[in-house]
Amino acid sequence: SRTPLIAGNWKMHQDHLQAIALVQKLAWTLQDAKHDHAAVEVAVFPPFTGLRSVQTLISAERFELRHGAQDVSEHDAGAHTGEVSAAMLAKLDCAYAIVGHSERRQDHGETDAIVGRKAAAALRHGVTPVICVGETAEDLEQHGASAVPVQQLRDVLAELPAAGEIVVAYEPVWAIGSGQAATADQAQQVCQALRQTLAEVRGDEAAAATRILYGGSVKSGNIAGFMREPDIDGALVGGASLDAAEFAAISRFQ
Ligand code: 13P
Repeated sequence: SRTPLIAGNWKMHQDHLQAIALVQKLAWTLQDAKHDHAAVEVAVFPPFTGLRSVQTLISAERFELRHGAQDVSEHDAGAHTGEVSAAMLAKLDCAYAIVGHSERRQDHGETDAIVGRKAAAALRHGVTPVICVGETAEDLEQHGASAVPVQQLRDVLAELPAAGEIVVAYEPVWAIGSGQAATADQAQQVCQALRQTLAEVRGDEAAAATRILYGGSVKSGNIAGFMREPDIDGALVGGASLDAAEFAAISRFQ
């Protein structure tokens, strides 16, 4: 069975000093609540500049929180100014790297092929890619909810080796930062279609083992409904992950 994952994507918030303060506060809040990290994994995704500080703090304090990056280069090394490699993230104990977030697709022209190559780079270095897919409001109107995210996932998976742990995050673009989350039922339908796609491409066993997260205006007030759905294994949380108490409450699904 799949261990739920509650992931906090901080986006371009928290300099490294603020990152330290937030991780401390989050870890203490989870400790006070006797959070069972083996039962529900909690991970934070600071900007690159915060990763070293967060790694040092987590390891010095033996916090059970995990951490990851918000992006990764498709290249392993070389003349790629401004890029950060998966090997560098692995050295910082990053368990995960988000790839293909809709903001990177929109702002940086990332295509499914690029996203797939980034995910492949992460896998080469033992970093689990969190592959984001999701439809825009226009896609939803024209094609329904599942068609675009399913096609995105297919095109990303085409760049990947057959084996290796991945996480999939379904984030409808219209639900991100809008305060208007998908309903649990809507999200379940798409996540079920994504799991079916995983089964077709990677086999039933891999599909059953892969965690699929929902993201888009997740809060403590709506997380429980998502977590009751059979194909939703956690959440990718933006705004609400910047508040330690709120993110800890989400991690308890309440
Ligand atoms: P919000 O939770 O702020 O809607 O952001 C979701 C998201 O994009 C997480 O990656």
